[in-house]
Amino acid sequence: MTPQEERNQRLAELMIKNLNRRNMEAFYCATGKEAVKKVSELIADGSTVTWGGTATVRDLGIPEALKSRGTLEVLDRDTVDTPAEKEAMYLRAFTADVYLTSANAISEDGVIVNIDGNGNRVAAITWGPKKVIFVIGLNKVAQTVEAALARARSTASPINAQRFDINTPCRIDGTCHNCNSPESICSYIHFLRNSRTKGRHVVVLVGEDLGY
Ligand code: SF4
Repeated sequence: MTPQEERNQRLAELMIKNLNRRNMEAFYCATGKEAVKKVSELIADGSTVTWGGTATVRDLGIPEALKSRGTLEVLDRDTVDTPAEKEAMYLRAFTADVYLTSANAISEDGVIVNIDGNGNRVAAITWGPKKVIFVIGLNKVAQTVEAALARARSTASPINAQRFDINTPCRIDGTCHNCNSPESICSYIHFLRNSRTKGRHVVVLVGEDLGY
């Protein structure tokens, strides 16, 4: 193992304990390939699966891997065309068996931070789908909750503003202006600090840089 790999392993072990303390299951996969396999193992045949806006899940090819099983009902939000169909897909997510997402940041002690413009993702994380699986690259780990929030606001959100090409000040100069723009992607800030229902929130930490 390289020093980086060893550090990742040790940090992940610490975080798994901290996530367990918050009533969340957690696993560590050293590579994205292993993470795809682990996510698939966590989903039972016959499940209905969908996901929120997540570059990590898409970049790892998880949607394709799940569809190729042929035993799941996969609700792919990227295949819908109209705003009405999109809205229907967002609503359907609340009754899905499994909801996949990443995070904008996570603290070493296991608090997961997400910021949404629309709110559908943080709503589904909070309530609805029977199981929520987070796939989180260790690049998103911050030492404290405050640092995790700072990462989400100063790194993830301005990059997502570029990704979605929205009309916000961070889209212009790459830094957060704490705006109240109509198109702000920072309407809802969510902290998952404790899971109420055992087994509902599952975290797959990955020893690679994934997402933003
Ligand atoms: S400028 Fe506005 S949209 Fe951009 S990161 Fe800051 S609060 Fe979010």
